[in-house]
Amino acid sequence: MSASAESHRTTLANPPNAMSSEVAEFLAKPKKLFIGGQWHDSRSGQTFDTVDPSTGRAIATVAEGQAEDIDRAVAAARKAFDDSAWSRMRPMERERLLHNLADLIEKHADTIAEIEALDNGKSVVIARHVDVKHAIEVYRYMAGWPSKIEGQTLPLSGSLLPDQTFVGYSLREPVGVVGAIIAWNFPFLLATWKLAPALAAGCTVVLKPAEETPLSALFLGQLITQAGFPEGVVNIVPGFGDTAGAALSSHPDVDKVTFTGSTEVGRLIARAAAGNMKKVTLELGGKSPTIVFGDVDADAAIAGAASAIFFNHGQTCCAGSRLYVQSKRFDEIVEGVSEVARKLKLGPGLNPETQIGPLVSATQRERVMSYISQGMADGAKAVAGGHALDTDGYFVEPTVFTNVNAEMSIVREEIFGPVVVAAKFDDLDEIAAVANQTSYGLAASIWTKDINTVHRLAPKLRAGTVWVNCHNVLDPAMPFGGYKQSGWGRELGKEALNSYLESKSMCINI
Ligand code: ADP
Repeated sequence: MSASAESHRTTLANPPNAMSSEVAEFLAKPKKLFIGGQWHDSRSGQTFDTVDPSTGRAIATVAEGQAEDIDRAVAAARKAFDDSAWSRMRPMERERLLHNLADLIEKHADTIAEIEALDNGKSVVIARHVDVKHAIEVYRYMAGWPSKIEGQTLPLSGSLLPDQTFVGYSLREPVGVVGAIIAWNFPFLLATWKLAPALAAGCTVVLKPAEETPLSALFLGQLITQAGFPEGVVNIVPGFGDTAGAALSSHPDVDKVTFTGSTEVGRLIARAAAGNMKKVTLELGGKSPTIVFGDVDADAAIAGAASAIFFNHGQTCCAGSRLYVQSKRFDEIVEGVSEVARKLKLGPGLNPETQIGPLVSATQRERVMSYISQGMADGAKAVAGGHALDTDGYFVEPTVFTNVNAEMSIVREEIFGPVVVAAKFDDLDEIAAVANQTSYGLAASIWTKDINTVHRLAPKLRAGTVWVNCHNVLDPAMPFGGYKQSGWGRELGKEALNSYLESKSMCINI
């Protein structure tokens, strides 16, 4: 099912913005693997193309890392972890390197945003003012930690050895070599969520970006060197999931694996990590509810509910993909969200007027369209959208479904596209049960002016983040992650830092 580009508000007819000379220069250079501070071809010599999803055309050819390249990268990370240049570096020096990196990212922010818009399809404006801006703030937040990583004094008073006296305290030490595997929806930002706390803790890292979006990570590799990190502290190996990703998550010399992506792959990674009992952090899928009560201000709730799902084209793990509205305001709010959906401008990410870019790949467009077709076949009604655009790019219209029920796959499963299902509710206990009727538990938002509603409902929601009168708000200090099948552990905040630290108890017989 498709709609011609002309019948929609798009920026496709406008000439796309020309690429900057810095990006053109970066794209023209060979894209190699960053291992031990040097750029290498893959051992096999194999490469793969990365594609501009707004045209379907290749924009760069990238060295394809496989198991033997992962071996080499892990060895480089282990060497760097053991080397005194990193392991004995004073914490304040680690802070300085992280600040250097943040400054360099800020200096090249427009370039990184452009690379992200080209490789992922997202709006260059969003990439600059959300993805890259947030990344800079996360590096600066984490740069504050190294000199404040503290253990505790332990007041030992057990009586097992009554004639002896012990002094006890704990130390926090870096977990070791970290394998970081990330998804394609926020390539630069997700790399930051892994690298910033891992480096602040004193770990070394092998990062495997998603095969769809390797470019911003490779640009970052250049900045890592300029910032002054010792060789091998950060290694970047683009490649595919079932080869490079599988090799990294099962590698016997990796101490921790941290992953952002689908619950399905998260499960594979947890199994692979069990071989040598790696520490594991998983940030996985979601089917987050946006819950709108009858007392809301319509404009704010409509704008908020629309942005909850359509931000990043719905390719957001915490997207508000289930919209529940109290019955008396249902028609008004859903019509408002549908009106926003119809007006959003689709187009290439590089065009600053674009509000909704293409989905990341042909596979993703097919996946989203098959959910839409299934929803229609099951009897749901698309009151906005419902089509893919008839272009070479992977555009899908922002879509709002009504007439849905809890059995439908569009209500139960994560679609990871600009598709929201809308349903009514009447009272608080009913919506608490319905909101939790999912295997996921990443986030939820509550829209109301009534503070009692907030405090009565929030504790009932099985979700890692509950937003009130907002959605998709992230902050470097606020832990982010999931209950249930949305994951293990947390990103951001001190909780993320702690997940890269071991605790060592010291017990001294005096
Ligand atoms: P999607 O299906 O939307 O691409 P995934 O969760 O599959 O999202 O992929 C996210 C990341 O996981 C990518 O970097 C991908 O290469 C990686 N990946 C996929 N399969 C595996 C696997 N079996 N082992 C390790 N990593 C994997």
